[in-house]
Amino acid sequence: MNPFSRDRTATEIADGVHLLGTHRVNFYIVEEGDGLTLIDCGFQGHRRYLNRWLELKGRTIGDIDAVILTHGHQDHTGFAEELRRQGVPVHLHPDDDHHVRGSLRMKIPPQRLLKSLYRPSAMSLLMEAAGDGVFTQKTLGSYESIPAGATLDVPGRPEVVAVPGHSPGSVSFYLPDRGVLFAGDALMTRDPFFGGDDRAIVFADHTDRNQACLDALPALSHYSSAALLPAHGEPWLEADSVGRAIAEAAIAT
Ligand SMILES: [Zn+2]
Repeated sequence: MNPFSRDRTATEIADGVHLLGTHRVNFYIVEEGDGLTLIDCGFQGHRRYLNRWLELKGRTIGDIDAVILTHGHQDHTGFAEELRRQGVPVHLHPDDDHHVRGSLRMKIPPQRLLKSLYRPSAMSLLMEAAGDGVFTQKTLGSYESIPAGATLDVPGRPEVVAVPGHSPGSVSFYLPDRGVLFAGDALMTRDPFFGGDDRAIVFADHTDRNQACLDALPALSHYSSAALLPAHGEPWLEADSVGRAIAEAAIAT
């Protein structure tokens, strides 16, 4: 257990779509028939939530057809390499290659977190991350490239939407038959560093790319009527949630 993390109770938030993780970091499982797709992999230690869910459902790692990553940041790639070594294909947009293989420099926390470590909530996040293995998690050995605009042949048949901004290779995934958009960090509904209100925010790992996060949002407007499933913050499940979030999105400072 990690004293700095608060578990979520695994919840089925849409038909065959399950939310797992902690109060700061979400990841999702999509069921389609016997198949499973995992969207993002939290921190390495968050594997415990996946294991618990599989056990509850009477499923195994062998039931997971694919891991699809919204981007290459450390709070999304956590246990992906472990699953890959167990035979699960991992998919990532190649423009985030430098995050998963790169030098130590690329593993440094985002600028706005480093500048604010005096804030208790920021320090608490760093402690959660450290306790769940962020500094020791395994580098992704290889991955399948996600092509922008493609429909992935994995359970849920997600459509890929490129949203470069938060990171160069950020993508969102839309599930047409469930009406949900997995936004990754392209649109968040709560600040993962400092908490606070439920609101639509964006920011980049480097502050000079913050504007690019806003500039990327029109790519999601085609999915305005979908429910918004972010990697940080509560899902917005009402109709037109993605459209509302695009309209209200502000750069988090
Ligand atoms: Zn991120």
